[in-house]
Amino acid sequence: VAKHLGRNRYHYFTPDMQDLALARMQRIHDLRNALTNREFCLCYQPIVDLASGRVRKAEALIRWNHPAEGLVAPGDFIPLAEETGLIIEMGSWIFEEAAEQVSSWRQNLDPDFQISINTSPVQLRSNGSKLEDWLAWLEQLDLPGDAIAMEITESILMDAAASERLLAVQKMGLEVSLDDFGTGYSTLSYLKKFDIDYLKIDRSFVQNLAPASSDAALCEAIILMAHKLGIRVIAEGIETEAQRACLAAMGCDYGQGYLFSKAVNAAEFEQRIRRNRILSQPCL
Ligand code: C2E
Ligand code: MG
Ligand code: MG
Ligand code: MG
Repeated sequence: VAKHLGRNRYHYFTPDMQDLALARMQRIHDLRNALTNREFCLCYQPIVDLASGRVRKAEALIRWNHPAEGLVAPGDFIPLAEETGLIIEMGSWIFEEAAEQVSSWRQNLDPDFQISINTSPVQLRSNGSKLEDWLAWLEQLDLPGDAIAMEITESILMDAAASERLLAVQKMGLEVSLDDFGTGYSTLSYLKKFDIDYLKIDRSFVQNLAPASSDAALCEAIILMAHKLGIRVIAEGIETEAQRACLAAMGCDYGQGYLFSKAVNAAEFEQRIRRNRILSQPCL
């Protein structure tokens, strides 16, 4: 195609369908190998109790260390993993890895420590995600279900198959956290229909938080409503001390964001927690 247009005209040309298909197939191939080659790892971002400043939880965030491309962000491969169904195998690996990690941290750091994992609707909808295997893994590790929280998005609650399996997950004792709250299309009625443990206020509401702003009003209303329903609140994307102070003053239970720490590997996480514990300071 580019040849037709003549040489050196402009640098842009549309790669034809074949190139796109090839690149996609290569990516799928790489993704398939990534599991067997152990190229994935979980990083952990602390979730801080805003009243005490202590780290009580962490969110597991997947990273792909691609042999040629280096670190690939989840946004660049999760959608493809969902399309191809690879997310199911990947999701089971994530669950097992996170469960092993929280078991170790419960023994070494804090007996009540909790790790949250992100769960895609595709993964939850599929019968391939064998919940019996997950339960067996928890039993093998001698871990209660609430050592793990499952982060879901509002879309899962609107999906009949996925929401049914969510109930099965809750029967296993896992806690449920509603991620990116306020950005989806769901209605508040889901909050009474499902037994949600945590609401995560989306980063977009925290970003421009200032006293008397409309985002402050929204955050405060979300916190009040959640508490009346017996749901605890986690604010995402806290980057400044002013945002932390504002949310703490509103009674928000937990906070997460670059102010405290970005997601780091397990060894570094553990090191930082030990230091934090001694100093008992909110910032890692
Ligand atoms: P999420 O679950 O809403 O995760 C929060 C994202 O916000 C993470 O990006 C995190 O690094 C980033 N973040 C945390 N604090 C701050 C902050 O203070 N400022 C800013 N600007 N960003 C912050 P990440 O790790 O790139 O993950 C992006 C999304 O990919 C996640 O959004 C989640 O939907 C998905 N994801 C990540 N790991 C997994 C996984 O293991 N399984 C599945 N199914 N999805 C995952
Ligand atoms: Mg999340
Ligand atoms: Mg989130
Ligand atoms: Mg988000």
